[in-house]
Amino acid sequence: MYYNRDQQPILPTVAASVSVRIQFCKHLLNGPTIGRGKVHFKSRILLLFALTGNGGEEHSGFARFCTNDILHSGMQQHVATLQEEATVVSERMRVRLSRRSAIREAFERAGVLARTHGADNVFDLSIGNPTAPCPAGVAAALKETAALPDEPNMHGYMDSAGYSDVRDAMAASLKARFGIDYTTEDIVMTTGAACALNIVMQTLLDPGDEIIVFRPYYPAYEAFALNWDARVVKVPYCRETMLPDVSRLDEAFSPRTKIVLVNTPNNPSGLVYPHAVAEAIAHAAERAQQAFSHDIYVVSDEPYRELLFDSAQNPQWPLLYNNTFTVYSFSKSASISGERIGYVAMAPGLNDKQIIRQGLCRSLGDLGFVNAPATAQRMAKHCVDSFADLAQYDRNRIALYEALCSVGFSPVKPNGAFYMLLPAPDGNEQAFVDRLLAENIVVVGGGEFGCPGYVRLSFCVSAKTIDAAIPHFACVAHSYGLNATSESSSALETSSALEASATPSAPEASMPTAPVASAVPVATAAPCICPQKETTHHE
Ligand code: PLP
Repeated sequence: MYYNRDQQPILPTVAASVSVRIQFCKHLLNGPTIGRGKVHFKSRILLLFALTGNGGEEHSGFARFCTNDILHSGMQQHVATLQEEATVVSERMRVRLSRRSAIREAFERAGVLARTHGADNVFDLSIGNPTAPCPAGVAAALKETAALPDEPNMHGYMDSAGYSDVRDAMAASLKARFGIDYTTEDIVMTTGAACALNIVMQTLLDPGDEIIVFRPYYPAYEAFALNWDARVVKVPYCRETMLPDVSRLDEAFSPRTKIVLVNTPNNPSGLVYPHAVAEAIAHAAERAQQAFSHDIYVVSDEPYRELLFDSAQNPQWPLLYNNTFTVYSFSKSASISGERIGYVAMAPGLNDKQIIRQGLCRSLGDLGFVNAPATAQRMAKHCVDSFADLAQYDRNRIALYEALCSVGFSPVKPNGAFYMLLPAPDGNEQAFVDRLLAENIVVVGGGEFGCPGYVRLSFCVSAKTIDAAIPHFACVAHSYGLNATSESSSALETSSALEASATPSAPEASMPTAPVASAVPVATAAPCICPQKETTHHE
């Protein structure tokens, strides 16, 4: 079912089971002129969003069907003027506007539901906005900043890379905590990880260069790649572990590979890559670097680095691979996502560091960031070794996981971040999202993250919200005919299963959709079964 922004179902006759995506948007925006009329551009974009669905493949036949439906319902003028006025924005922006952000949409939908049903009756598990109280360092930094004498340039521009005492503190902390010999010059302060990723990309990428990402992945990677006309190559996951299928690594590399983008703890799976998986990725990058005789960079995106559970250890990429950038953000571990502060750390062994550093700083200026915010840098210095208390997230993680297992779902047990993947019991992601929505549980479909058939639950909410949501999950489980069980186990729980993913697996000719859950979760680790047709994806 498709909804407009007021939660009204739209096109009920045709929107039941399939998704209309980019092809239809293109048709709507670029198709032949069929009439004249005056409709505001915003209405056109809303129409586009209203008509696009989630997670599926493109359905040009359905697109034509929708188009006919619109024509026959007297909406020709909308389409015509939509095409006319859409040229106001650039072609590049038209492509972007035709792609929805399922995370933002779900978040907005939760807002609408909260206004209708009351915030206490809506369980918004859609977005990764941290709610754990900030560490004391944040308040200390604000107090200290307020007490500083008002000297000239106290809040002024600085070196593009940031304050040197702040960069000193970052380098010293990394050295003390991870034993990696960073210097002040290796650190460039940024407005969060998003900025850091973009300045690294702008510094390294030419149009047509390739970035390897691992399903499931943070969706903004695709938007960022588009900024630099880079191609995203997607490595499939191992269905039994939801970790990268290391047997498919080598085929992902090509002479155009420049960046291998890794994210652990992972958004959306909440999984920490085991050392063996990280090592396999590093070795494959090394092989490709030799084979193609040019530098290939590992970019490790680590906004969840401190959000670790069950004694999980995050891999230290610079110890595995010389040409590494670490991208860090204080958004999640210090609960200051709105303050926009993070950094890029160039590994001690990175080649051509001096020119790359110049590129990063130049990029900060050319993209309009100029430098990371002054007060946020001071906060970062105070928080560098103190983090928000993880107790709330850990409690939510366990409570949610156990409750879901007990009603017959088969969640993927996370050991990092604050996300959990849940396969749709019948593999139908959109129907699952809709059924959860009917219980006022707002989640994001896995298609957005490159793992169709799943939904992502974000549990960085209050314990009260999780506890109140649990009976509603039980209702949904019941509606699928799942059996309640006292066993709280899943095929993905054992550490031996996680380590097993580093073992090459036999490929299977199927799409990487969610496995159909058995009523009672399987306790033993099944062999790693990975798709063949939907292989490493060059696009
Ligand atoms: N990378 C990942 C994997 C994320 O989940 C996020 C935010 O959710 C970001 C990067 C961007 O973080 P920031 O707020 O620091 O820009």
